[in-house]
Amino acid sequence: MNFDFTDEQKQFAQQVRRFAREHLAKDALKRAHDPRFPFDVAAMMAKQGLMGITLLQNEGGQGGTLMDAVIAIMEIAAECPRSADVVQFGNFGPIRTFAEYGTPVQKARWLGDLLAGRTVMSLGMTEPDAGSALTDLKASARAEGAHYAINGTKVFSTFSPDAQIFLIYVRFGPGLDGIGSVLVERGAQGFSIGAPATFMSGEQWCELHFADCRIPAENVLLGPGGFKKQMAGFNVERLGNTARSLAYGRYAFNAARDYAKTRRQFDRPLCEFQGLQWKFADMAIKLDSAQLLLYRAAANADRGMPSAYETAIAKVACNQTGFEVASEAVQIMGALGYSRETLVEYCMRRARGWMIAGGSIEILKNRIAEHVFERRFDQHGRSPTAE
Ligand SMILES: Cc1cc2nc3c(=O)[nH]c(=O)nc-3n(C[C@H](O)[C@H](O)[C@H](O)COP(=O)(O)OP(=O)(O)OC[C@H]3O[C@@H](n4cnc5c(N)ncnc54)[C@H](O)[C@@H]3O)c2cc1C
Repeated sequence: MNFDFTDEQKQFAQQVRRFAREHLAKDALKRAHDPRFPFDVAAMMAKQGLMGITLLQNEGGQGGTLMDAVIAIMEIAAECPRSADVVQFGNFGPIRTFAEYGTPVQKARWLGDLLAGRTVMSLGMTEPDAGSALTDLKASARAEGAHYAINGTKVFSTFSPDAQIFLIYVRFGPGLDGIGSVLVERGAQGFSIGAPATFMSGEQWCELHFADCRIPAENVLLGPGGFKKQMAGFNVERLGNTARSLAYGRYAFNAARDYAKTRRQFDRPLCEFQGLQWKFADMAIKLDSAQLLLYRAAANADRGMPSAYETAIAKVACNQTGFEVASEAVQIMGALGYSRETLVEYCMRRARGWMIAGGSIEILKNRIAEHVFERRFDQHGRSPTAE
C-alpha cells in the first residue's frame, strides 16, 4: 500500500497550483462574492486542459483519471475557492453523465461548447415535493409524435441563471423504472426560468417551470429505466462536492494557521496558546482522515464511476470536516475571520451547503447503514404487507 501520489500526479498537482497562483489567486476574494458563473475562468481552464479531465480524448477530454480531477479541484480551490466551481462543472457535474450517456448527435451539438467553457449546464432534479425523496419526482415527459411535452417544476438548480442547457430528470411513466432524463435548452417553447434568488453561499438559483414545453425526441438523454445509470453518474458529482468541502476546510485551516503565527495577544503569538494548539491538532486529524477516505473513493473508482458506499463515507466525512474546520478557523481568527476581508467565512458558508446537497449527510448515512445491515430500508415506511 502506498499513501503517496505518483511522480506524474505530483507533477500535475504542481502545474495546476502554478496556474492557479499565476491566474486566479489575485482576484479570489472578488470572484467569491460574484454570484455569476465565471466564464473567463472557464475559458482559461479549458486552455489549460482542466475541463473534461476524465473524458475520452477523442471527445475533447483529457483521458485522465478521476484522481487527476480530484487533484485539480483541490489545487485550484487552494488558491481560489470560487474557481473550483468551474472544475466541478467541467469534470464532476452533469457534464459527466452527459458525456457518458449522451448520443453522438447530442455530444456533437453541446459537448464542445461545454468543454470550451463557452456554455454551462444546469441539473434539474429537485422539485418542491421531491428533495431527499427524489424518486417521488413528478415532472413528466409525454410522447407526442416526434416530440415530448415536458411539464413540472424544478428548484435549487446550480448555475441556472447562466446555463444554456439543462439536464432535467423526468418521469416517462410510473415507478422507479419510469424515471429518465431529457435535455432542454434555454429559450425552448414552454420553458420559463424564474427570477434568481440568493442562497447562503451567495450563489443565485432560479426555479425552472415547464408548461407543455416541447422538445424533440432526440433530446432524451436516458429513457425510462435510466435512473440507476443517472445515480451512478451522480456518485462522480458527489466526489466533486466531497473534494471541494475538504479543500475549503484546508484553505481555512491554512489561513488560520498563518494568522496564529503572527497575530499577538497577551504579548505572545496566538499559536503559543495551548487552547488554540489543540484546536489545530483536532482540525489536522479531521482533515487527514477525511482526505484518506476521499482518496480511497477516487482511487478505487473504475473509469470514473466510484462505489456508492465509499463515496457516501467520503462525502459525509469531508462535508462535516470542511464545515467544522472552516467554522473553527473563523473562531481562531476572531472578528477578522467573521469579516469578508478573508475567504474563511466564505469557505464555511460554501461547505455548509454540501452537507445538504448531492445526498444530505442523513440520506448518505442511511445508505451507509444499508451497507452495514446488508438490506434496504424503505424510507417511505412501507412494510412488505402495506398496500
Ligand atoms: C448547495 C446546494 C446545491 C444544490 N444544487 C442542486 C442542483 O444543481 N440541482 C438540483 O436539482 N438540486 C440541487 N440542490 C437541492 C438538493 O438536491 C436538495 O436540497 C436535497 O436533495 C435535499 O432536499 P430538500 O432541500 O428538499 O430537503 P428535504 O428532503 O425536505 O430534507 C429536509 C431534512 O430532512 C432530512 N431527511 C429527509 N429524509 C430523510 C430520511 N429518510 N432520513 C433522515 N433524514 C431525512 C434531510 O437530510 C434534511 O436534513 C442543491 C442544494 C444545495 C444546498
